[in-house]
Amino acid sequence: MPTQHGWAVLCWRVMKIPELLLPAGSLHKLKVAILYGADAVYCGVPRYSLRARENEFRLHNLGAATEFARAHSKKIYFTVNGIPRNSKIPGYLRYLKAMADLKPDALIMADPGLIMLTRDHAPDLPVHISVQTNTMNYAAVEFWRRIGAKRVILSREVTLAEVREIRQRCPDIEIEVFVHGSICIAHSGRCFMSNYFGNRDANQGACNNACRDAYQIFLKNPEKEDAQMELISSEDGTFLMNSKDLRAIEFLHDLAESGVDSIKVEGRTKNDYYAAMIARTYRRALDDIKDGKAFDRALLTELDKVASRKYFSGFLTRGMEERVPEDERDFQNADGSRTDSPMDIASHGSTRHQSYRYAGCIKRQDADGTAWFDLKTRLEVGDELEVFFPGTFASRRATVGELIGRGGVNSVLSGGIGEVGMKIPFAVPENVFLARVGVAETIRQSVTT
Ligand code: SF4
Repeated sequence: MPTQHGWAVLCWRVMKIPELLLPAGSLHKLKVAILYGADAVYCGVPRYSLRARENEFRLHNLGAATEFARAHSKKIYFTVNGIPRNSKIPGYLRYLKAMADLKPDALIMADPGLIMLTRDHAPDLPVHISVQTNTMNYAAVEFWRRIGAKRVILSREVTLAEVREIRQRCPDIEIEVFVHGSICIAHSGRCFMSNYFGNRDANQGACNNACRDAYQIFLKNPEKEDAQMELISSEDGTFLMNSKDLRAIEFLHDLAESGVDSIKVEGRTKNDYYAAMIARTYRRALDDIKDGKAFDRALLTELDKVASRKYFSGFLTRGMEERVPEDERDFQNADGSRTDSPMDIASHGSTRHQSYRYAGCIKRQDADGTAWFDLKTRLEVGDELEVFFPGTFASRRATVGELIGRGGVNSVLSGGIGEVGMKIPFAVPENVFLARVGVAETIRQSVTT
């Protein structure tokens, strides 16, 4: 008979570890996500997915993406999660056939019409129901199961308690939950700010992130036409709707225990460094759960090495504030009372928070140790770099020496100038990432992902 502790260990051992699902906006990001620890990736063509911009995938290169995933025994899902207008319906069956021929592991879908066409014309192709459908409860999950869906991606607005209940009441369908990345200030798919302000339809994948902008708000006294008073929420301006980013890494054990099948990261338009850093950190957290280890809070620091609008745990932890660190209790007033005010999740400024700066991704290394990469940030002789490798959580440090670029040898170079070379005293294969080590900083600049 196991001791109480023994039972606990047994429970940790038999717990199903969720799939780690990463976004891919390009073939390189897809490769990096897989090499740094993703179990599965998602990508899609602009015409039918929700990433019309900064998305290099087309029908002709989805095959290469699928081959890479297959070669590494990973899964690949194609996103078809836009809400198309009539004009996009006639061409859909041609796209569907081309995608079905590649045999992805599933299509991620939102529009009932496209789901019907897919079920009719490619009945063997599994369908995952997109977060765009705002699936909030077990009845809605059961509805999608009866339609023939294999998996439902729950709305970002569900709590952990609701996830648990949905899992218990709907045991015959896979459940996926978002754990990291940007979130909307509205229910996904129910926002028209981008359409209204920029004539760009978020439901067609063309969101202009209008919620991230600074807005000027004035109080006006009708009795005194000239008297206006501007309301400003911080020294950076007024960012009423710019939500902090989701980070639920410290709650993965709860999600695994709940029986969630997949945890998902947002960010198809973010860079390859983001894909690598988020994949390696969440991979480590999931591996720790598999090994029966407690959550390592140092992983929170790892996630600060990429830019964010500051983190919070979203709606998942509503009702369990005692588990949320004090400075992250975004739905709690100073007196401990609860609030639903969106002001409390706004990031209070057009700021990016990060401790490191992405310096480059290694393309090759010469026999004399000179490593070549496209320079992404300013580097100067003496700067310290952290070096991240695919396939391992271990990293190394290196010091910046002379930089070869712009036709000569330099002691300092700015990011964005193209390829540069720098000697690194150990082997750095392709897809190793370099980041300039820094202190935690807040960089005031426009925030768009
Ligand atoms: S404007 Fe903001 S809230 Fe609206 S869809 Fe775009 S990112 Fe989401």
